[in-house]
Formats: sequence, structure tokens, C-alpha cells
Amino acid sequence: MFEIGHLVWIAPRDVVSRRAIAFLVLFTTVGIACFGWLALSLYEAETDAIDRGFRSRVNQQVTLFEREVLLHLEILHALKPGFETAPTVDYEQFDRLTRNVLKRSPALQALAWAPRVSRSELEPFQARLAAEQPGFQLTERNGGGDIKPVDPRDWYLPVAYIQPLATNSAAVGFDLASEQRRLAASIEARRTGKLVATAGVRLVQEPANQRGFLVFMPLYHGEPSNLTERLQQHYAYLNGVFRVGELFRQSIGVTVSKNVLLRVLDRTEGEPEELFASADPGLERWNREFTYVQPLADIAGRDWVIEAMPSNQYLQLRRGSLPILVFLAGLVLLGMLNVYVVVTLRHNRELNATKDQLERISLTDSLTGLANRRHFDEFLETEWKRARRQGNRLSLIMIDIDHFKQYNDEYGHPAGDHCLEQVAQALDSVVGRSTDLVARYGGEEFALVLPDTDDATGVAEACREAVESLRIPHEYSRVADIITISAGVYTVERPESGMTAESITEKADEALYQAKERGRNQVVTVARSSGFKSEKPVKTQGG
Ligand code: GH3
Ligand code: MG
Ligand code: MG
Repeated sequence: MFEIGHLVWIAPRDVVSRRAIAFLVLFTTVGIACFGWLALSLYEAETDAIDRGFRSRVNQQVTLFEREVLLHLEILHALKPGFETAPTVDYEQFDRLTRNVLKRSPALQALAWAPRVSRSELEPFQARLAAEQPGFQLTERNGGGDIKPVDPRDWYLPVAYIQPLATNSAAVGFDLASEQRRLAASIEARRTGKLVATAGVRLVQEPANQRGFLVFMPLYHGEPSNLTERLQQHYAYLNGVFRVGELFRQSIGVTVSKNVLLRVLDRTEGEPEELFASADPGLERWNREFTYVQPLADIAGRDWVIEAMPSNQYLQLRRGSLPILVFLAGLVLLGMLNVYVVVTLRHNRELNATKDQLERISLTDSLTGLANRRHFDEFLETEWKRARRQGNRLSLIMIDIDHFKQYNDEYGHPAGDHCLEQVAQALDSVVGRSTDLVARYGGEEFALVLPDTDDATGVAEACREAVESLRIPHEYSRVADIITISAGVYTVERPESGMTAESITEKADEALYQAKERGRNQVVTVARSSGFKSEKPVKTQGG
């Protein structure tokens, strides 16, 4: 009985708690995923902010550098008219025209004047220059980079004058047409009449390995208006000589952090060529993922860009701990929630266990351990309804101990209690089906509810025999010298409406009364619409 009750009551709760645990695992997993996603989003937002900050900082520096370069190119435009009004410039004139400018432009490595000299003019030209600058000679570089006298050519572009002389004397007499990059820029300048810069070159006067560039400003007689006139009227160049590193230092050198790499690249010829780098680009610490390339305005026909890269430390210094804190807080929250749910579940389980126990107690007879009257009433009501629904037969056996008052009176109340326990056990042992119910109806009366049972009378008789075989002495019984029972059986074959659970009990009670009347220690069965009949005549050892 209680096994059934146990199954009926415990199983759903176990399922619920298992469901709760499955839900908890799912909830926690989803929670971790959500907080992970949130932390990652914050991390990415932070990365974006750092990247934006980095780019805006680089943009400012690019602007400063670009302005510095363009300002220096402007110098050549400003000097041009002065030179064109005096085409046959000499050493002193050149010095006078350029001295002030050079003083105020430290990033300008040199200004030079280079006329176009044909082979036939070379001799007198050299003689004139040597008179002003002793030892003047046209030179070029050999394959090894050493300075040597020029080879014969159709025409030359010798650096006639250069200022400041002290730091640029190595360039005096150098033939600009002897080197490919300088030659290319000079031709382009002559043809277009515009300022043209060379690609990055190693300056003749450069002691270190720094890259520089020359800017060619073509000088013409008169004002040529087309290519033919420009080719005919061109006579010399005004050159600006720049060291890229110097322009960089003058403009943004102070503001460049150790944690940022800035490279000036010339990509006019497609493949970018490095003109300057603020630090060694080969170092491990630069984070290439954040590479930012910003183009500059046109630099005398060249396409320059600044490529910027932050170091890993630059990024670390700007990263906060918010993403990881959010993630950890999420884990703590989920942990607390888990603990709370587990504690609540355990509490509920305890409450349910207590509730079950109370329920069991409220349905059990404390002396015999059988179902009590309340349980019997509910059970009979339920089974009666089921029998009517399904059209099944339902049997009820009412049992009463014979002359029990006498037993109680003679042997004492405790012995009476013990007798009741033994009889209860005997009755319980007879009933084999889990769908049956054995109950203590009250006092020394018992009741058996047997749904859909073929032979209820047989069961009643088995009960009678079971009690008889206990052989509990009862000297004062008028039926036998042992404890015996009388039983009334009522079976409803086809349940009909109009009948109630109470009326079934009444019928079984009537049968029991008949059993008593007929002499006790016997079973009387009554079926619906049939008369009473005694199944078993009085038959005991003592009787
Ligand atoms: P009959 O053969 O006609 O059934 O006579 P009887 O004496 O068995 O019937 P009666 O109803 O007169 O007496 C029942 C007695 O059962 C009365 C009471 O002393 C005793 N009794 C009822 N409940 C308990 C109980 O829990 N413990 C004990 N020891 N005795 C009980
Ligand atoms: Mg009685
Ligand atoms: Mg009795």
C-alpha cells in the first residue's frame, strides 16, 4: 500500500527536481555565454576606442608633418622670381638670396643652384667656377659610391652653388644628371615647369645613412607657355635639399611616443619605399593589426604616406579591467543564483518529505499500521467512481472480531491491542494485489476494498482462516476457545447510478450482521439483487 503511495507521491517530485537541475545547468551555461559575450563586446568596444584614439592622434601628426613639408616647398616658389630676374647668378648673389631663408629653416638641408651645361660649354664654365671656388670640378659617383670626375656626356647639371657650404661642400660640382633619380626629376620639372621632387636618395653630403630628397624648381628665360618654349628657355634649376628625418623632427619629433612607430613611405612607384622611420620597424613590439596608413597631400609630384603602428604596450596601457570585471561579476552572480536555487530546492524537498510523512500519518492507523478510516473512505469513494466509469465489479468485506469486548475485559486492554495488531497482520498477509486496500474500520472492525475481484468470498474466507490459524487463546469466547472473526461480503457486479459508497458499506455491514446472527466465525456474502447466503458454516476447533 505504502509502496504505491510512495510511488504516487515521490516520483513526480523527483522528476521536478531533476528538471530543475537540468534547467539550472542550461541557465548557467546560457548565463556564462551571455556574460562572456558581454565581456567580449566590451573588450571589442574598448579596442575600437583605443584604435580611434590612436588614429586621431596619428592624423594630427600627419597634418603637422605635411604642413612642414609643404611650407618648405613653398620656399622654392618664393625664391624663384629672385633668381629669374638675375639668370647669370654668381656665388655672392646666390649667398645673398638664400642666406636668410636658410637661417630660418633648419629642416632645409641645403639650397643649390644647378645650371644646364652642354659639353661644349663645360670648359669655360669650369674655369669661371674655379675662379670663384678654387678646385671646382664636375664630379659623379662611381659604382662603389665614391666621388670621381665626370665621364664625358652631352650635357651636365653640376651643383654650381650650394648653401650652407660648411655642411654641403661634398656636393659642390656634383653632376645631378649623373644619377638616375635626380635626372628623372629634373627632366620632369623642365618639361612641366613645376616643382618636382626626387624619390628618396642618399644625399652626396649625407654623413649618416639617412634618406633625403631633392626638389627641382626649373628656371626659365622669360615666361614659356608651352613645352617647346620650356625646353628652349630652360637654363638652370634651383634645388631644395631635404633630409626627411629632419623634417620629421622639426614638425612632430617631440610628440612621437616611444610606443608608436611612424614611417614615412614613398609609394609613387607602387612598391612603398621607406624614407624615414621613427624607430626600428623590425622590432617585435609593434602590433601590426593596428597598422594605420594615412596619405599626405601631393609632395612635389610624389605620393607619400605615413604608416603608423602602436606597440603592444601602447594598447596595454589603455586597456581597462571592465570587461574581465563584468565577466567575473557575472560568474559570481550565477554562482549565487545556483546556490540560492539549490538551497531552495533542498528546502522544498524537505518540506515535501514532511508533507508526505504527515499525509502518510493522517492515512494510517497508528496501532496496526493499516490504512485508517479516513483512508478507507477516500479509497472506497475513488474506487467506486472508477468501477462505475469502467463498469467493473467492486467488492467490500467488513470484518469484526468475535466477542472482543470479552477478550478485552478478561485479558486486559494491552493484550487486546496486541491481538488487534496480530489480526491486522494476518488480514494484510492475505491480500496479495496492490490495488486492494486493507483498513481498520474502527475498534475491532476491519474492511477490505477489492476492486475487480472474481472471488471476494474466497478472500474473506482466507481472512477468516488466517485469523483462525493465529490460534490466539480466547477462553471466554462463546464461539471457540481462540480468536475468530465474522465477515460480511458485498459485491457490486455492474455498478449503477443511484448507489453510493455509503450504501455499499451498509450492504457489507448487513452481511456482517447476518454472519453474527448465524453464529459468528463465518463469512456471509450478499450480491446485488440477491439474498444473503452463508459461505462458511461455523467451523472452529473449539466450536
Ligand atoms: P460481537 O461478537 O458481537 O462483535 O461482540 P463484541 O464484544 O466483539 O462487540 P462489541 O462492539 O460489544 O465490543 C467491541 C470491543 O472492542 C469494545 C472495546 O472494548 C474493544 N475495543 C475497541 N477498540 C479497541 C482498541 O483499540 N483496543 C482494545 N484493546 N480494545 C478495543
Ligand atoms: Mg464490533
Ligand atoms: Mg466484535
